[in-house]
Amino acid sequence: MERGSFQLAAELGEVRLLLCPHGHFAANAETLREDQASCPTCGEKLAQSRGIEVGHTFYLGTKYSSVCNAVFYSPENKPQLAEMGCYGLGVSRILAASIEVLSTEDSIRWPSLIAPFQLCFIPPKRGSKEEEEEGAALLEQLYQQVAVALPHLGSEAVLDDRTHLTIGKRRKDAEKLGYPYVLIAGKRVCEDPPVFEVWDQNAGEVLFLTKEGVVELLSKVQVP
Ligand SMILES: [Zn+2]
Repeated sequence: MERGSFQLAAELGEVRLLLCPHGHFAANAETLREDQASCPTCGEKLAQSRGIEVGHTFYLGTKYSSVCNAVFYSPENKPQLAEMGCYGLGVSRILAASIEVLSTEDSIRWPSLIAPFQLCFIPPKRGSKEEEEEGAALLEQLYQQVAVALPHLGSEAVLDDRTHLTIGKRRKDAEKLGYPYVLIAGKRVCEDPPVFEVWDQNAGEVLFLTKEGVVELLSKVQVP
């Protein structure tokens, strides 16, 4: 039976791949003849890479349609057996491969399309100066503003209300869980207008933004 596979290029992948640098052709090295070293379309030398298999496809032909008599009528009105194929996606492999390819030593970075939640809100530590200055209420207003301006993100937010822990500890936990954006009521929330600390995990950078700035930043987030 013919079989094709979907590979995610990754250094630690278990499969050896040969690729055209211009994207015309890619194959599992084991399935190629020894002497095939160039792209069948453009003739460029094939480059070596490694891949993780995240899905596959099988050509079934008429193996099952012949048993079930699954026929259709051709333009000439003749009964013909359907040709069949099937696809399989390795859901847990896709998660593992995403972590392998995107994450850093101490943080998970999900593609936003598969992140379980897009946003993590971290209010001030209980008893801190920021809490006394109503940091928690300001962060809640920020959430409301985001949910009104970007309704698709309203259900994509988690509030880490373990306010007995420091902001730093909760931010570390948020990195390990892989929320694409972490929004913090930190020291500058006491400024006028309030400034929030926003970690863009996938870019690995921190931004200091007003409410309006946060909404503008998040307006580019895609969710399924
Ligand atoms: Zn090519």
